[in-house]
Amino acid sequence: MDGLDRLRRFVCDLTRLTDAGAGEPEVLQDAGASLRALVAADDWLPPEFAEPHPAQYRQYLLYCDPYERFSVVSFVWGPGQRTPVHDHTVWGLIGMLRGSEISRSYAPAGGGLLAGAAEQLRPGDVTAVSPTIGDIHSVENALADRPSISIHAYGANIGAVGRHVFVLDTGEAKPFVSGYANRAVPNLWDRSAETRARLGI
Ligand code: FE
Repeated sequence: MDGLDRLRRFVCDLTRLTDAGAGEPEVLQDAGASLRALVAADDWLPPEFAEPHPAQYRQYLLYCDPYERFSVVSFVWGPGQRTPVHDHTVWGLIGMLRGSEISRSYAPAGGGLLAGAAEQLRPGDVTAVSPTIGDIHSVENALADRPSISIHAYGANIGAVGRHVFVLDTGEAKPFVSGYANRAVPNLWDRSAETRARLGI
């Protein structure tokens, strides 16, 4: 298996889990295992979805379920880039594909938000966020000299979800909608070479 077949397989696994009505613990476990398989190989992400921007991190949509029950994105960090402290409001899985990133969790304390544990992800690592297991964090590229890329799945069309960024001192939540950096998504469906090979033409 190579190329976008890896991504298509991940999308099929997410669709199967979603259609089966899997609850969040099952989704995080089973889709997490599938994401771990996806990021175990770094040979499939098309370069246009791995392109950093000089000024800010990029979120490229790779796939969205037709009913917007889940989405898959690539998150591309230039050197030194980081997110504000933010939430997701739905489950999210993060798989490190290339380079390294640091995620720091935050919890309400004394009217503001207090920084908790930091977790550094390296290629092949998978972690999760959600309102039930901890949803507020900031993420940054751990590498000062090159881009890092992680693949995320979320339990909604994440670029269109009404979310929040937070002011640390006061805990104030400000509305935030992330959007996507791309207008076109990868073509997972050109399987003509496979068919031609099968037909011997
Ligand atoms: Fe996040």
